[in-house]
Amino acid sequence: MIKYCDLKKVNGAHGNELRAAVLRATESGWYILGIECKAFENSFAGYCGCTHCIGTGNGLDALTIILLAYKEMGVMNEGDEVVVPANTYIATILAIMHAGLKPVLCEPTTETCNIDPDRIEDAITERTRAIMAVHLYGRTAEMEHINAIARKHSLKVIEDAAQAHGAMYNGKRTGNLGDAAGFSFYPGKNLGALGDGGAITTNDPQLAQTARAIANYGSTEKYVNKYQGVNSRLDELQAAVLSAKLPHLDSDNERRRSIARRYIAEIDNPQVTLPQVEDYSRHVFHIFALMSPQREKLQEHLKAEGIETLIHYPIPPHRQEALKQFSHLSLPITEQIHREELSLPCNPAMSDEEVTKVIEAVNSFRP
Ligand SMILES: *Cc1c(COP(=O)(O)O)cnc(C)c1O
Repeated sequence: MIKYCDLKKVNGAHGNELRAAVLRATESGWYILGIECKAFENSFAGYCGCTHCIGTGNGLDALTIILLAYKEMGVMNEGDEVVVPANTYIATILAIMHAGLKPVLCEPTTETCNIDPDRIEDAITERTRAIMAVHLYGRTAEMEHINAIARKHSLKVIEDAAQAHGAMYNGKRTGNLGDAAGFSFYPGKNLGALGDGGAITTNDPQLAQTARAIANYGSTEKYVNKYQGVNSRLDELQAAVLSAKLPHLDSDNERRRSIARRYIAEIDNPQVTLPQVEDYSRHVFHIFALMSPQREKLQEHLKAEGIETLIHYPIPPHRQEALKQFSHLSLPITEQIHREELSLPCNPAMSDEEVTKVIEAVNSFRP
């Protein structure tokens, strides 16, 4: 059986370093907001090319706290609108709602599965304050176009980089492509902790300071509370684990790319549409997403061949019970993606033989 993603193997490849990191954090006697968190924040900011990084409890909180900070700064107000791709994972949309803002769902393109820049301006009103660009599946959104629209309308650009650690765009990394970015270190992400974790990156010192306070009960110094904050911090154990894994992120991403290159070169089945990738540096293949009108049958076939696949995602956000207020929207491209997407195993734990098996199994599919 080829697992979709064997996290035991992924982390096992760095076993000694992870054990040393956990031991170091365990024996330090200090478990929240200490030297491990500070050290990881510094190295992750440096990796992304940003001046500031703030650890958070998870990726959802990272995105929510950015927006809460902009509200405290007077940049956004209750009920203001944020344009967001309609086909994102629900967390992006929930972050906007949890911050008391209004998500405005915008269609993606079928080629990129990222927000369609040509449709953003139709979604902008006088209440719009930001565009939340999601680098879905690990592919960077069209940031040049998005930033140009944002400049024209005086909007903030926030990256949801939860699936795209290390992806490059015009020589810069994700996390440094807009005004602020939210990352997730959920265990299955390209840079994954051994539990929950997240981070905010930005070059804006005022945003960094405000977000840091909000993540820690709104506190600017111990027992002095400036904002009605939340409790969302990257703990010392996870920070130590992430510091051990960060030096391997580029080579892990390179391995994902080489698997993706083989899939794209060697999968040849008219039932399947493969991702079109012009520039591999822009994609870190958190998810290798193919499209097929026969998605369910293909998934069955691969299962019978001993290959586990996943669907990202089976139900679009506006069709979720939790988001009933958006159910009237007509979003045909989003719905097509959710109907046809199938994710092949694509991660650093896979062997060349496993990749070959996946290719042969997809190619032998006859509906
Ligand atoms: C994983 C993910 C999140 C949320 O991250 P958590 O750490 O699970 O809260 C947000 N957006 C996207 C696109 C994600 O894939």
